[in-house]
Amino acid sequence: MSALLEATARAQVVDVARSIFTRGLTHGRTGNVSARLGDRILVTPTGSSLGTVAPDDLSVIGLDGEHLDGSAPSKEAFLHAAMLRARPDATAVVHTHSTYSAAVSCLADVDPASVLPPLTAYFVMRVGTLPLLPYHAPGDATLERLAESTARNHHALLLRNHGPVVAGPSLSNALDALEELEQTAKLFLLLHGRATRALAQVEVEDLHSLS
Ligand SMILES: [Zn+2]
Repeated sequence: MSALLEATARAQVVDVARSIFTRGLTHGRTGNVSARLGDRILVTPTGSSLGTVAPDDLSVIGLDGEHLDGSAPSKEAFLHAAMLRARPDATAVVHTHSTYSAAVSCLADVDPASVLPPLTAYFVMRVGTLPLLPYHAPGDATLERLAESTARNHHALLLRNHGPVVAGPSLSNALDALEELEQTAKLFLLLHGRATRALAQVEVEDLHSLS
């Protein structure tokens, strides 16, 4: 792994982390960002704020989640490793406690196989079907196997009473999808209690044939 590639990846992780924090997509010391470099993963460290994390602060873990170098990784780093193992084409994962997505993750009357309806074309194209994984306490590694198996068919997951985890072929792609998910969660809550027209099945299928 060239030092230049690693330096670029570290800078990109920090750029995305800052963007998430400054735009209010996560708060305090919540949220984590990772990028795959060969068989290693750069991930934001435990206890860090995405608003102030620096390139040299990042942890290095293996694809099995083991800590290889740098600071101690986020307690949620296992989720990133699980998503990247499940999705060989993915190189990046973002996880946040974004307000509207977290609010939807707390609703009692949602379909866990598909939490948000296809309200807009961009939700269908960037997120697709969004499964809701059952509640696990922070750092509970029993979530790992479930996240890995679900991520084989979905690049975006919503954790019950928690928040979204999104993988993508690049950091910017993962961030775009996370942001689309958050905006759709906001629309869903704004529309709550109103008669709503989601996209029809045939309209969703047309979008799949475009992408
Ligand atoms: Zn979290």
